[in-house]
Amino acid sequence: MELWVTEYQTPSLGFSLRVSETLRNEKTDYQHLAVVVTEQFGKMLLLDGMVMTTDVDEYVYHEMITQIALNSHPNPAQVCIIGGGDGGALREVVEHPQVTKGTLVEIDNRVIQASRDFFPQLSCSFDNPKAEVIVNDGIQFIKEQQARFDIVIVDSTEPVGPAVELFSESFYSSVYRALKDDGMLVVQSESPFFNQDIIQMAYRGISKSFPITKVYTASVPTYPSGLWSFTVGSKKYDPEQIQYQMERPCRYYTPEIHKAAFKLPYFLSQLLKAGK
Ligand code: SAM
Repeated sequence: MELWVTEYQTPSLGFSLRVSETLRNEKTDYQHLAVVVTEQFGKMLLLDGMVMTTDVDEYVYHEMITQIALNSHPNPAQVCIIGGGDGGALREVVEHPQVTKGTLVEIDNRVIQASRDFFPQLSCSFDNPKAEVIVNDGIQFIKEQQARFDIVIVDSTEPVGPAVELFSESFYSSVYRALKDDGMLVVQSESPFFNQDIIQMAYRGISKSFPITKVYTASVPTYPSGLWSFTVGSKKYDPEQIQYQMERPCRYYTPEIHKAAFKLPYFLSQLLKAGK
């Protein structure tokens, strides 16, 4: 008997993967959590039926949500990640030579545990001496910080459940206060094809607090539509300007990709103009 898992990317579009084994299937205090073994992408973490990360393509998203800011800020010593409980973004952050501390704030401890149990290439970051892992609501945590971080990265689920307020203007302004006076915010802002309302909301909300706000994209095979967006809010530095030359080669990110990622399809640049 064949077993398939389907993520409904829209009410009328499913992304199906043939599965050879289910490793975890539970209801946490915050969401439904599953880990399955897919034939195409290896082990896959799903939350509330949405693909979070896979063995095979995790590097694209985790490099692109971190390396753009890490390499366009001249001294990213203190970096905070809200969400990101799989540990992939934290791995990129703590491996960056200029980072002295990566603080991860994940609301659901069961996500961290699932990563420890099944995704060693991601959860290796939790035990890095530069890493601090806090189980808490990122919204509450950020409200309590003042001029502490050089970079804040919001690696959250889509705006449902505990993540709703992570896409709000009030949260973005509290991030502004939690950042140093030359700090940067990066958020994952969903699919340019299927989530134009979310991209506009993030861009408009971040623009309200930050003098520089830009969107960039990357191709993530297992995310809805395969094209993903990220939105950067910066107090001082232009995120398109590379300030640091990578020593460690990445698998997706390069200085050329850094520049190209900000070249947006016409429909997306028009969407952002309309949303301002
Ligand atoms: N890359 C994925 C994406 O783009 O959808 C996100 C991966 S990461 C697993 C998302 C994490 O955000 C989840 O583990 C979820 O528990 C966490 N999260 C959601 N709302 C949160 C909040 N208010 N504070 C901290 N973590 C939160």
